[in-house]
Amino acid sequence: MASLFKVDINKLKGVGPKSAQYLAKLGILSVGDLINFYPRAYEDWSNFTSFALACGQKDKCIRVQVVREMTSQRVRGGKMIYKISVSDGIDVADVVFFNNRFTPQSMKQENFYILRGNVKRIGGRYEIIAPKVKNANGARNIFPVYAQTSGITSQKIAGFVKNALEMLPETVPETMPAWILDKYNLCSYDFAIKNIHFPKNPNDLKKARERLVFDEFFIYQLGLGFIKSQSRTPTNIEIKENNTKEFYKFLPFELTNAQKRSIGECVKDMISGEYAMNRLLQGDVGSGKTAVAAAVSYCVAKSGYQVAVMAPTEILASQHYDTFCKFFKGTGLKICLVCGSLRAKEKKRIQQEIECGFFDIIIGTHALISEKMKFKNLGLVVTDEQHRFGVNQRLALINKGMSPHTLVMSATPIPRTLALIVYGDLDISVLDETLPGRQSIDTYKIDENKRPRALNFIKGITDAGGQAYIVCAGIDENENDIVDVSTYYEKILKGVFDEQNVGILHGKMNPKDKDEIMKKFADGDLKVLISTTVIEVGVDVANARVIMIENAERFGISQLHQLRGRVGRSDKKSYCILVSNSKSKDSNQRFSAMTASNDGFYLSEEDLKLRGPGDFFGTNQHGVPNIGISTRYEDIYLVKKAQDAAMEVINSGEDLNSPEFKFIKSKLSKTFEINGENAAKGIIF
Ligand code: ADP
Ligand code: MG
Repeated sequence: MASLFKVDINKLKGVGPKSAQYLAKLGILSVGDLINFYPRAYEDWSNFTSFALACGQKDKCIRVQVVREMTSQRVRGGKMIYKISVSDGIDVADVVFFNNRFTPQSMKQENFYILRGNVKRIGGRYEIIAPKVKNANGARNIFPVYAQTSGITSQKIAGFVKNALEMLPETVPETMPAWILDKYNLCSYDFAIKNIHFPKNPNDLKKARERLVFDEFFIYQLGLGFIKSQSRTPTNIEIKENNTKEFYKFLPFELTNAQKRSIGECVKDMISGEYAMNRLLQGDVGSGKTAVAAAVSYCVAKSGYQVAVMAPTEILASQHYDTFCKFFKGTGLKICLVCGSLRAKEKKRIQQEIECGFFDIIIGTHALISEKMKFKNLGLVVTDEQHRFGVNQRLALINKGMSPHTLVMSATPIPRTLALIVYGDLDISVLDETLPGRQSIDTYKIDENKRPRALNFIKGITDAGGQAYIVCAGIDENENDIVDVSTYYEKILKGVFDEQNVGILHGKMNPKDKDEIMKKFADGDLKVLISTTVIEVGVDVANARVIMIENAERFGISQLHQLRGRVGRSDKKSYCILVSNSKSKDSNQRFSAMTASNDGFYLSEEDLKLRGPGDFFGTNQHGVPNIGISTRYEDIYLVKKAQDAAMEVINSGEDLNSPEFKFIKSKLSKTFEINGENAAKGIIF
């Protein structure tokens, strides 16, 4: 099998240069790639119904016998119509084909076939137009449907896959130790790889899917499990006392119990510290994570160590800088911001001052660790909005030989069932308390034609002293047919708001301009901020009370929830308006979830139901690489099964060097690869 990845796809029987080009678009370059290109769905041809019951419904199968063979007729425009009469045992129906004589011609008197299509009743007779047809006594009744692209159909791909499977050895070598297959009741790899494409029946398909989905999750669990069991890095950072209480009096508010509890958990990790703290602070948007980070930073800095605080965007880093400066006023600790807009000379000076230990708390983007930044004595790394940092980046830090305490903060609630997978290597603190006086954010979904009314509503809020965000999915005009940031004022806002009250923010602006606009908005000098999703993460302007999201169908649930979290940051009522003309079922399910709830955990669970666990992880959001097989919510039990198996392997003291783990080991190192380097090196192997 492995060597088939070295066989070019155009060496496969039936694949010419054109097809090879189309397949390349689907990411298929070798015969091995094609074999690993699993079907997107399956058509089940095993459930039959009658014409009467199928009538008016879509995509139904009917088992029929031909009662009159093909007749043909030429109609106006030179088109040919071919007709056959068939019976389902109760009624007779006409099967009609246009310009395609091949299929109807092959259907012979008295023989049985299965038709798949849409049945209509026309002039007292049932009719089915251009159905798919299969022989009734074929060996299989379930067929693969592949993701197709223009130029190549699913059926064509199926044909190629068939040829590719013929190139496999009689029995494909097993990739998993026999005892795991046995214990977790899984089929062989050979069976799985063949039946995932062409199963004989639904049961075989179920077995094959189970095995392949298990494999994917098993690799993650195993990798993360190893990281967790071995990344307990010993540390010689000495935090002697919990002095956080003396910091509380510097804060402009009373901390919630959840905040105090989380701070306590962090400090306890560090004080008992033979090993470095490795903790996740999970809390929904607006739950007050920054204050927790500040208190923990205080404790470390007062113990004489440096703290690095990293944010995913410059905007957020500079906001944190402002917040920290406020919180730490009077503490005597020195704080600096390292950002892209610094001039080379300034940067160099700051770097030297960091290196000699002048600064206690250093705030910046994640470039802080990836650059050649040198610290005097780094004691704690805080990463905010951790879902933007992948598992692999965390590994990179450990690989640099640093063993500071780490605190990662994430506002993306993860369904409890999956938290262990995504954050399997971390201890977790949860901010499960809403801040005092906060109200829920009322959320509405509207069509574009209601936009003028929505703008009036927004105007009302800004007239009353509030501020508003308007989010667009794109920066420039004509970008994939969406409402854009650049022309929004001219096209939509003009006449409603004065230009000097409106600011524009997007990722392509230079950091200094971004900063300036964000400051103006934060200071209340702008009433409306038209922005891309650069404001999605973390931005905190308490006076912003309404957010309107254009082309809302372009965003996933967690992204919408994140965006909505930009408002509702004071005790005043806030609003979220989703604008979309989309009729698609998927997007409307997302909108319904959003309008129904403000609870991030509930929404993450809904998101998981709509997308399935594989897709859920696969987005960069969670920092876990894509998986190759599509999954459904019901597959969660396989996630658990894989986790049990992985833990069993790890607890048995396995080092993956035995021959039965050869394949797993190589797959593992590919999965946890970063920039072509094996990030897990030294930890897993
Ligand atoms: P997030 O969890 O989304 O990062 P922030 O840390 O930005 O939330 O906090 C949201 C807002 O609530 C900030 O303006 C912060 O100063 C304020 N805040 C934090 N903790 C409290 C508290 N205990 N009481 C009142 N306001 C608080
Ligand atoms: Mg935050």
